[in-house]
Amino acid sequence: MGKWLYDDAMYRFDSPQPSYWEATAGGGDTPGKPLSSDESCDVAIIGGGYTGLSAAYHLCRDYDLDVRVLEAGHIGWGASGRNGGFCSIGGDGLGAEKMIKNFGLESTRDYYRSQVAAVELVRDIIVDEKIDAERHGSGEVAIACSDNGFRQLKEHAEFQFRVLGLDTSVVTRDKFRARYFDSPLQHGAIILQPTFGLHPLRFVQGLAGAAGKHGAAIHPNSEVTHWATNNGVHELRTANGCIRAKKVVLATNGFAPEHLRGQLKGRALPLISSILVTRPLSDEELAAQSWQTNSPSITAVNLLNYFRLLPDGRFMFGGRGSANGNEQSAAENFVKLTARFHEMFPAWREVNIDYRWHGLVCMTRRLTPAIGRLEDDPSVFFGFGYHGNGVNTATWSGKQIADWIGAGGDNKGAPPKSLPSVVQGMPVRLPFPGLRLQYIRGAIAWRRLLDRLG
Ligand SMILES: Cc1cc2nc3c(=O)[nH]c(=O)nc-3n(C[C@H](O)[C@H](O)[C@H](O)COP(=O)(O)OP(=O)(O)OC[C@H]3O[C@@H](n4cnc5c(N)ncnc54)[C@H](O)[C@@H]3O)c2cc1C
Repeated sequence: MGKWLYDDAMYRFDSPQPSYWEATAGGGDTPGKPLSSDESCDVAIIGGGYTGLSAAYHLCRDYDLDVRVLEAGHIGWGASGRNGGFCSIGGDGLGAEKMIKNFGLESTRDYYRSQVAAVELVRDIIVDEKIDAERHGSGEVAIACSDNGFRQLKEHAEFQFRVLGLDTSVVTRDKFRARYFDSPLQHGAIILQPTFGLHPLRFVQGLAGAAGKHGAAIHPNSEVTHWATNNGVHELRTANGCIRAKKVVLATNGFAPEHLRGQLKGRALPLISSILVTRPLSDEELAAQSWQTNSPSITAVNLLNYFRLLPDGRFMFGGRGSANGNEQSAAENFVKLTARFHEMFPAWREVNIDYRWHGLVCMTRRLTPAIGRLEDDPSVFFGFGYHGNGVNTATWSGKQIADWIGAGGDNKGAPPKSLPSVVQGMPVRLPFPGLRLQYIRGAIAWRRLLDRLG
């Protein structure tokens, strides 16, 4: 294995993805410039996505600490600037039933409460900081792709409502067609609140602006290439400067620079997710699929797709990405993603696709997010592993880390009470980390088989 897990094409920090979000980010200037001198601060943050910027925002706004953010690309270069913009409940790969088995009922309830709070946190930040994030739609639609799938989904909704206290409702196939949309794969659905869609890059840029306004120094295009710790002081080197800090927050999720710290090796399981966006659809074209909703939607299967109508009438459709991230396998994967899009929405077969891009999401071995501090160096905090979710979970994770650092003057402070046990601490290492891409291929083949068996 080289420096990175996937092909180097996934880590070109100097080039933005050719995404719809980059094309429509607007003129909003993000604060900061690349690090060009040696500086000191209380807390240095590696990674300028939702986790890192939310940590910076809350550390400066609520605790008045001296904070610097180092981002290898432009602000939002990572998954935060290129995701599907679903601000929805999720964050784990376990499912509630298994979470109860592994962590107990109360901890599972705590976790789901924190997920709802995380959606509301994003909404509050957008409102408080007047971020032009194009909030759109309400409730996450999960459609069943078979009658058996609908039976299971109904039971699941009943469980979510009764056991977890979540706001879910069931819509039968005919009612769904009349009120939401139609597809040959649609067999009824459930709707989960709270959820909304947003412009992910505008949100991350707005978060950077808010963090800057409250005093954080933000350094885009400043990849940390060396990390040394001497007498309790961390030295983070970039090409043109060095930051010395008492505490470090590692906020790199699927783009984890494992080469910087041995303890990080094999803890994260990054996966590629891909998105396409069509040209704007006419009213007649929307009517051809009975499309009438702005709500973010998913298929409730193992290898799921996620999709939504964008405010300007374009259609976004996302799903699994390529196996290794090189240009050829990415191109082949986009052909498969397009075929799946046409299978779901045959009336839109002739519609041009204007944008295609991809990025890394991140899983962990225990299939829950990981928020904590390194056991052998409690001055290093981390937040990662949001399992394809993150608009809400990463933003919330950054706040948890900020509250943890802000409340504990020394390096022994306990985690904040709002941090559910389900997410606490470093997950165990995956065995033979160099084989992670093979594990992923095996897991995808298994899930595909489960979906074929219904
Ligand atoms: C295609 C796609 C679709 C998705 N859709 C959704 C969705 O609809 N809803 C949802 O909730 N979530 C979605 N996600 C997941 C979500 O985007 C992520 O979980 C979330 O953005 C993670 O935020 P983060 O700040 O932790 O990491 P990131 O935003 O990935 O940021 C990590 C940053 O660390 C930086 N970095 C790495 N190494 C270094 C270094 N050595 N020095 C300095 N900087 C470094 C990287 O440049 C990167 O910008 C999607 C992800 C993808 C890829």
